Amino acid sequence: MSVTFRQLAPTFAAEVSGIDCRQPLSQDQIAAVEAGMDQYAVLVFRDQTITDEQQLAFTMQFGELENYNSGGHIRKRADSRLGAGIADFSNLDKNGNIMSDQDRVWFFKLGDRLWHSDSSFRPVPARYSLLSGRVLPSWGANTEFADMRAAYNALDERTKAEVEDLVCLHSLMYSREAIGFTDLTEEERASFQPVRQRLVRVHPVTGHRSLFLSSHAGAIEGQTIPEARMFLRDLTEHATQREFVYSHSWRPFDLVMWDNRTTMHRARRFDRNEVRDVRRTTLAGDVITIEQEAAAAD
Ligand code: MN
Repeated sequence: MSVTFRQLAPTFAAEVSGIDCRQPLSQDQIAAVEAGMDQYAVLVFRDQTITDEQQLAFTMQFGELENYNSGGHIRKRADSRLGAGIADFSNLDKNGNIMSDQDRVWFFKLGDRLWHSDSSFRPVPARYSLLSGRVLPSWGANTEFADMRAAYNALDERTKAEVEDLVCLHSLMYSREAIGFTDLTEEERASFQPVRQRLVRVHPVTGHRSLFLSSHAGAIEGQTIPEARMFLRDLTEHATQREFVYSHSWRPFDLVMWDNRTTMHRARRFDRNEVRDVRRTTLAGDVITIEQEAAAAD
């Protein structure tokens, strides 16, 4: 079966046909999906009734899993419902009950409703994320994506020159502070030390420039905090205008795969008394963004 793509938004995102994510892929299929990722940055695979094991196996055909043994992130809870390699993005606790609205884990999850790029707070940020929708609420809970290549392209020339060599500092502390969640433990503060990321990334395959924005970014080197925060807010407003956004309305067993290097995303509201069970696998990046050639070719 050949792999085909149907574009979903003006500049990016596509629905994929011809792939069964439960089965091992051929080299041609892997190449087709990777080419689709390079072109569309967000791919939607419908009706993929996969298990956690199948999701892991599918993911690992595209690279190495992100490893969570270093700092900068929330440590996987020892009492997680799910096995190694699968991140629980549900609103369920270890017993499968809906989390309390007082649960600190819930506060961390609420921060995912801010526009961000996964793991931008780690020295080597994530490449692809894959989210499988298992149980979805009856209302809301869309995941929205913004095309950071189109957003970059639409900047005026003066702003392009201004952002070209800027380096931002990213930390989970900044994004949680933005929603008023500042009650972090000493251990969390120590592991959330800011990391440096270039504001403009060059895609290693396509050479396209994109804005590497994220709510985890809270400072720009060489600028005061107020100056930096206003500039980042201004760029984020620009980059998340409707014309650059695809809003994914979930059906059970959609599998959505996105490139964190060229997109931002955010979760949308839903009724917290309903179950949302979504599970993520994440592929490690291989680029330290500040080491990227400043003058890489277009
Ligand atoms: Mn995310």
